[in-house]
Amino acid sequence: MTKIVTHWIGGKPVDGASGAFGPVTDPATGAVTAKVAFASADEVDAAVAAAKEAFSAWGRSSLAERTSILFRFRALLDAHRDEIADLITAEHGKVHSDALGEVARGLEIVDLACGITVQLKGELSTQVANRVDVAAIRQPLGVVAGITPFNFPAMVPMWMFPLAIACGNTFVLKPSEKDPSASVRIAELLAEAGLPDGVFNVVHGDKAAVDRLLEHPDVKAVSFVGSTPIARHIHTTAAAHGKRVQALGGAKNHMLVLPDADLDAAADAAVSAAYGSAGERCMAVSAVVAVGAIGDELVAKIRERAEKIRIGPGSDPASEMGPLITRAHRDKVASYVAGAAAEGCEVVLDGTGHTVAGYEDGHWIGISLLDKVPTSARAYQDEIFGPVLCVLRAKTYEDGLALINASPFGNGTAIFTRDGGAARRFQLEVEAGMVGVNVPIPVPVGYHSFGGWKDSLFGAHHVYGNDGTHFYTRGKVVTTRWPDPADAPAGVDLGFPR
Ligand code: NAD
Repeated sequence: MTKIVTHWIGGKPVDGASGAFGPVTDPATGAVTAKVAFASADEVDAAVAAAKEAFSAWGRSSLAERTSILFRFRALLDAHRDEIADLITAEHGKVHSDALGEVARGLEIVDLACGITVQLKGELSTQVANRVDVAAIRQPLGVVAGITPFNFPAMVPMWMFPLAIACGNTFVLKPSEKDPSASVRIAELLAEAGLPDGVFNVVHGDKAAVDRLLEHPDVKAVSFVGSTPIARHIHTTAAAHGKRVQALGGAKNHMLVLPDADLDAAADAAVSAAYGSAGERCMAVSAVVAVGAIGDELVAKIRERAEKIRIGPGSDPASEMGPLITRAHRDKVASYVAGAAAEGCEVVLDGTGHTVAGYEDGHWIGISLLDKVPTSARAYQDEIFGPVLCVLRAKTYEDGLALINASPFGNGTAIFTRDGGAARRFQLEVEAGMVGVNVPIPVPVGYHSFGGWKDSLFGAHHVYGNDGTHFYTRGKVVTTRWPDPADAPAGVDLGFPR
């Protein structure tokens, strides 16, 4: 019998009633392993209604109650790391160690949420005028929604809901329909931790479910992570419906390698960051910019390392890189490599013919490395989201910087150099939200916020860290005067305080 992935509404699994389903595939075998219910507008409404009902008590619950549940959830998540990583590998395809890393990074945000007491302390100014005090407090918004991509089915939801619920909101998650099981397992663990029914809900589906969330009058804020065209749609539509919105989009992350860099370290970093998770990371390095005369040597070192990557099913501990999410995506990635030579690229490695014995129907693609890539090539302009690394050449630091800053994306970037002055200039001059100095994937730790610039993020707030708490709360300032019983009455004064 085919496994059916259900919604999670009001603290329990709920079968889909719309009659619409999507296939869930094991990318290593190509086999359909489950079908996931797609929510209709009515089913989304039911999840929002459950969240709204739960908010009336949860929004007033004590910080101690919320954090004690989050601490129990943290312990359960920790105990079930392997199980959740297995679910991720089975539906996403990434290797188990990578899936475990994803759970660990999600756990960091749960850690942060367990300490929400510190972030919600508020501010107090006493005696701002005679007997007048001013307090600034932050309060929850109500029902908030999260819409998440396929590439981190556990971590990206955990960028959002731990802080949202710690701040007193209730949450409706619409995870990726391609790998939906991890989010339902997380819902079960939250329930086991004692989270009241309706505080965390999951509805599966496609555009119909998302668009209902964007329009629903009871959804007060929307957090989105996914591709740039959809991020733009989410931002525009949610804002038009009066919602607070943060919409993180796609990326083309550049790594600038200066002539004085340790080229072995730079090649190690480029290969790890380009091909890890088969390039399906929004912080993957997909463009290396070699400055000066180092290009040939750097490409040779990258090639030597890349050729050794072991490709195979994510469940095999010997595999370093798994398959791509769907066959259609695999074919799209291959098309960039197929067209590269005609667009002026030098094809150093072509992984499009790669197969894995015993897994002939998996969504496999091997390692591709393109050199001397012109900025006009499609392989450079588009976010490929696969194991294809473009190397570009620049004469000087200034040329390399200008090339990076001309990209419409501005998620992450990195500089590899031993020159502290150049690294410092780069930090200040580059147009990207996250910068690494000799660090290829500069994902901020949980207590700093994550987010890009330009077409990589629409909205004013980054996710998690302080921005996360600000996004999921609204400020209120209370000005208080307690007159001393000995004071004479102030009397009527129509003037503006001077
Ligand atoms: P996607 O944009 O196709 O889907 C993201 C979510 O939006 C899914 O839940 C999907 O069901 C929904 N969706 C898809 N089409 C929609 C539509 N027309 N209307 C409304 N909702 C729709 O992204 P994906 O392929 O799942 O994930 C990969 C993308 O996510 C890449 O572009 C990657 O860079 C990006 N990403 C960005 C970050 C970041 O932090 N900036 C992090 C992870 C992934």
